[in-house]
Amino acid sequence: MDLRELYQEVILDHNKSPRNFGELPEATCKADGYNPLCGDRVTVQLIVDANSVIEQVKFQGSGCAISTASASLLTEALHGKTVVQAQELATRFKNLVTEANEPVSGSEELGKLEVFAGVCEFPSRVKCATLAWHTLLSALEEGNENIVSTE
Ligand code: ZN
Repeated sequence: MDLRELYQEVILDHNKSPRNFGELPEATCKADGYNPLCGDRVTVQLIVDANSVIEQVKFQGSGCAISTASASLLTEALHGKTVVQAQELATRFKNLVTEANEPVSGSEELGKLEVFAGVCEFPSRVKCATLAWHTLLSALEEGNENIVSTE
Protein backbone atom coordinates (compact mmCIF):
# COMPACT_ATOMS: atom_id res chain seq x y z
CA MET A 1 0.00 0.00 0.00
CA ASP A 2 1.47 3.35 -0.95
CA LEU A 3 1.29 6.54 1.08
CA ARG A 4 -1.59 7.90 -0.94
CA GLU A 5 -3.78 4.83 -0.33
CA LEU A 6 -2.81 4.80 3.31
CA TYR A 7 -3.67 8.49 3.57
CA GLN A 8 -7.14 7.91 2.14
CA GLU A 9 -7.73 4.92 4.36
CA VAL A 10 -6.70 6.73 7.54
CA ILE A 11 -8.77 9.82 6.66
CA LEU A 12 -11.85 7.72 5.92
CA ASP A 13 -11.45 5.65 9.07
CA HIS A 14 -11.02 8.61 11.43
CA ASN A 15 -13.75 10.61 9.74
CA LYS A 16 -16.20 7.73 10.09
CA SER A 17 -15.33 6.99 13.70
CA PRO A 18 -13.51 9.94 15.26
CA ARG A 19 -11.51 9.09 18.38
CA ASN A 20 -11.95 11.10 21.58
CA PHE A 21 -14.88 13.05 20.20
CA GLY A 22 -16.98 14.86 22.77
CA GLU A 23 -17.11 17.22 25.69
CA LEU A 24 -14.46 17.45 28.39
CA PRO A 25 -16.18 19.39 31.17
CA GLU A 26 -13.11 19.40 33.46
CA ALA A 27 -10.84 20.77 30.73
CA THR A 28 -8.04 23.05 31.90
CA CYS A 29 -7.29 24.39 28.40
CA LYS A 30 -9.64 24.98 25.54
CA ALA A 31 -9.71 26.77 22.20
CA ASP A 32 -12.01 27.04 19.22
CA GLY A 33 -10.72 27.02 15.67
CA TYR A 34 -12.37 28.01 12.43
CA ASN A 35 -11.22 27.57 8.86
CA PRO A 36 -13.28 29.99 6.75
CA LEU A 37 -11.95 28.57 3.48
CA CYS A 38 -13.76 25.31 4.04
CA GLY A 39 -16.13 26.06 6.92
CA ASP A 40 -14.40 23.63 9.33
CA ARG A 41 -14.93 24.24 13.02
CA VAL A 42 -13.11 22.45 15.81
CA THR A 43 -12.92 22.81 19.58
CA VAL A 44 -9.95 21.25 21.35
CA GLN A 45 -10.19 20.64 25.08
CA LEU A 46 -7.40 19.31 27.26
CA ILE A 47 -6.70 18.38 30.83
CA VAL A 48 -3.10 19.31 31.62
CA ASP A 49 -1.85 18.27 35.05
CA ALA A 50 0.49 20.13 37.41
CA ASN A 51 3.53 18.53 35.71
CA SER A 52 2.46 19.83 32.27
CA VAL A 53 1.42 16.35 31.14
CA ILE A 54 -1.64 16.07 28.92
CA GLU A 55 -3.91 13.67 30.77
CA GLN A 56 -6.86 13.88 28.44
CA VAL A 57 -7.69 15.51 25.15
CA LYS A 58 -10.99 15.65 23.32
CA PHE A 59 -12.37 17.49 20.35
CA GLN A 60 -15.69 18.56 18.98
CA GLY A 61 -16.77 20.28 15.84
CA SER A 62 -17.92 19.76 12.32
CA GLY A 63 -16.04 20.02 9.10
CA CYS A 64 -14.69 18.10 6.16
CA ALA A 65 -13.18 14.63 6.42
CA ILE A 66 -9.64 15.96 6.54
CA SER A 67 -10.24 18.38 9.40
CA THR A 68 -12.11 15.75 11.41
CA ALA A 69 -9.52 13.03 10.79
CA SER A 70 -6.69 15.40 11.65
CA ALA A 71 -8.33 16.38 14.95
CA SER A 72 -9.03 12.73 15.75
CA LEU A 73 -5.41 11.72 15.12
CA LEU A 74 -4.24 14.71 17.15
CA THR A 75 -6.12 13.50 20.22
CA GLU A 76 -4.58 10.04 19.88
CA ALA A 77 -1.08 11.41 19.38
CA LEU A 78 -1.13 13.76 22.36
CA HIS A 79 -2.35 11.50 25.11
CA GLY A 80 0.29 11.34 27.86
CA LYS A 81 2.63 13.83 26.19
CA THR A 82 3.98 16.94 27.85
CA VAL A 83 2.97 20.39 26.66
CA VAL A 84 6.45 20.89 25.18
CA GLN A 85 6.24 17.57 23.29
CA ALA A 86 2.79 18.56 22.00
CA GLN A 87 4.16 21.85 20.71
CA GLU A 88 7.04 20.05 18.99
CA LEU A 89 4.64 17.65 17.36
CA ALA A 90 2.45 20.52 16.13
CA THR A 91 5.45 22.18 14.47
CA ARG A 92 6.51 18.88 12.89
CA PHE A 93 3.01 18.30 11.60
CA LYS A 94 2.79 21.79 10.07
CA ASN A 95 6.18 21.26 8.43
CA LEU A 96 4.99 17.95 7.03
CA VAL A 97 1.84 19.23 5.35
CA THR A 98 3.31 22.50 4.09
CA GLU A 99 6.70 21.05 3.13
CA ALA A 100 8.23 23.77 5.27
CA ASN A 101 11.50 23.18 7.00
CA GLU A 102 11.15 25.05 10.25
CA PRO A 103 13.70 23.61 12.68
CA VAL A 104 12.11 21.59 15.46
CA SER A 105 13.87 20.65 18.65
CA GLY A 106 13.29 17.36 20.43
CA SER A 107 12.65 13.96 18.97
CA GLU A 108 8.90 13.57 18.85
CA GLU A 109 7.92 11.08 16.15
CA LEU A 110 4.94 11.77 13.92
CA GLY A 111 4.05 8.08 13.67
CA LYS A 112 0.64 7.63 12.10
CA LEU A 113 0.47 11.37 11.39
CA GLU A 114 3.01 10.79 8.60
CA VAL A 115 0.16 9.88 6.27
CA PHE A 116 -0.79 13.56 6.17
CA ALA A 117 2.21 14.11 3.93
CA GLY A 118 -0.39 13.30 1.25
CA VAL A 119 -2.03 16.68 1.88
CA CYS A 120 0.86 18.36 0.07
CA GLU A 121 -0.80 17.22 -3.12
CA PHE A 122 -3.90 19.24 -2.26
CA PRO A 123 -2.71 22.72 -1.22
CA SER A 124 -6.27 23.94 -0.66
CA ARG A 125 -6.68 21.32 2.07
CA VAL A 126 -3.63 22.26 4.10
CA LYS A 127 -5.68 24.55 6.34
CA CYS A 128 -8.16 21.75 6.93
CA ALA A 129 -5.32 19.51 8.11
CA THR A 130 -3.64 22.11 10.32
CA LEU A 131 -6.77 23.62 11.89
CA ALA A 132 -6.83 21.31 14.92
CA TRP A 133 -3.09 21.86 15.48
CA HIS A 134 -3.37 25.64 15.38
CA THR A 135 -6.26 25.35 17.79
CA LEU A 136 -4.23 23.09 20.06
CA LEU A 137 -1.35 25.58 20.19
CA SER A 138 -3.75 28.35 21.03
CA ALA A 139 -5.30 26.31 23.83
CA LEU A 140 -1.87 25.48 25.28
CA GLU A 141 -0.61 29.05 25.05
CA GLU A 142 -3.55 30.82 26.53
CA GLY A 143 -4.76 28.12 28.85
CA ASN A 144 -8.26 29.48 28.56
CA GLU A 145 -11.05 30.02 26.08
CA ASN A 146 -10.16 31.73 22.88
CA ILE A 147 -10.91 31.60 19.20
CA VAL A 148 -8.39 31.09 16.44
CA SER A 149 -8.84 31.33 12.74
CA THR A 150 -6.42 29.94 10.19
CA GLU A 151 -6.94 33.04 8.03
ZN1 ZN B 1 -11.91 21.36 5.42
